[in-house]
Amino acid sequence: MITIGVLGLQGAVREHVMSIEALGAKAVVVKKIEQLQEIDGLILPGGESTTMRRLIDKYGFMEPLRAFANEGKPLFGTCAGMILLAKNLVDYKEPHLGVMNITVERNAFGRQRESFEAELSIKGVGEDFVGVFIRAPYVVSVGDEVEVLSVHGDRIVAVRQGHLLAASFHPELTDDHRMTAYFLDMVKEAKAKKVV
Ligand code: GLN
Repeated sequence: MITIGVLGLQGAVREHVMSIEALGAKAVVVKKIEQLQEIDGLILPGGESTTMRRLIDKYGFMEPLRAFANEGKPLFGTCAGMILLAKNLVDYKEPHLGVMNITVERNAFGRQRESFEAELSIKGVGEDFVGVFIRAPYVVSVGDEVEVLSVHGDRIVAVRQGHLLAASFHPELTDDHRMTAYFLDMVKEAKAKKVV
């Protein structure tokens, strides 16, 4: 059985849990660092990255999360979670986890478009995927080892770097679980590699 954690400090946690369970995997809301031992992969949900960062520091999650990523365990950051993963943030000196070789700009779609939906084509996931964007960030540029999975207009909105996955939008807010299923496959692959 695959167990997926959802970092439960702040944000859209419950919806991710429902999406994971809809796919027949076990979901764990991670509120304590010890719980990182119980899970095969972790979702960093959307919410507010500055608040999440404050709570990550408060509960001592920063180094354990970096170690989790450095061990090759899969991480999926959605919206604020993508901001947490990025190595570079426009207008910020320091990143948060800084494990993924992408440059991200926060709140990048402008005030008039605080929230919108768009049909996306996502490589490896499928066509006509409705992306829900809420005060969404976007990926300004990527390193060589990063694969661009989806673009909206001229903006990169989904990327993968090996065991790390990130999306500007909220894949957990619709009944379409294809993006979560894609992450689940990444987790299965990582788990299978360890067994061999
Ligand atoms: N704008 C938020 C941030 O900067 C992200 C929004 C979201 O996760 N829906 O953290």
